[in-house]
Amino acid sequence: MAPETELSVEEEMEFSLLVNKLEEGVPLAYLLGEQEFYGRTFTLSEDVLIPRPETEGLLERTLSFEAQRVLELCTGSGILAVSLALEGRDVSAVDISPQALQVAKKNALRYGVRVHFLEGDLFAPVQGTFDMILANPPYIDSEELKGLAVASQEPLLALDGGVRGMEVIERILEEAPKYLKEDGVLLLEMGWDQAEEVKKKATHYECVTIERDLFGRDRYVIARSGRKHAGKVR
Ligand code: GLN
Repeated sequence: MAPETELSVEEEMEFSLLVNKLEEGVPLAYLLGEQEFYGRTFTLSEDVLIPRPETEGLLERTLSFEAQRVLELCTGSGILAVSLALEGRDVSAVDISPQALQVAKKNALRYGVRVHFLEGDLFAPVQGTFDMILANPPYIDSEELKGLAVASQEPLLALDGGVRGMEVIERILEEAPKYLKEDGVLLLEMGWDQAEEVKKKATHYECVTIERDLFGRDRYVIARSGRKHAGKVR
């Protein structure tokens, strides 16, 4: 965009190195080291998933609840946790990957917000109860993932949801009520074909609704706690 600019030999070498990586299939967001999400630019590394537009829909839904005490699982680059903290929510965010947490901490610092980061496997490091729990967990079927280009480009830990892609989602659905306040709400991103299975595994919630993403595919689970009404699924 500035053809009159003369590059130094080093700059030219660095540029062709990046072009080579792009040709090898490395996503541009990793080469740039950042990506936009919900109108803000976030720091990225190859240790975290590249934010998807579908996940902006998850953020929009979480913002529609007044929940003050918020827990995010599988935070990755921390885009959701930091975005919520910027709205004044009191956010705790968990990831099993210390490398991902490094990136998330950079993003909290970048935007000058405090997020209580915890390292561990889902609820393992979590104490207390929350008004809202959210997650964009790994939800791609292990077998299907083997055939997808994304498997060689982004961290498997962020994508591989085990058998039918449901293993992490099931664990979250199972355990979340213990960490939700009486009228708490759980919001999850899931695969477009997982709605029926999610409903089957979520009979211990007061009510479960599935919402569609911007492409018109089932994508979000909104489950309200309240064990006394267990069994009502719609
Ligand atoms: N939406 C991502 C994809 O299709 C998957 C994200 C996830 O597993 N959480 O590549």
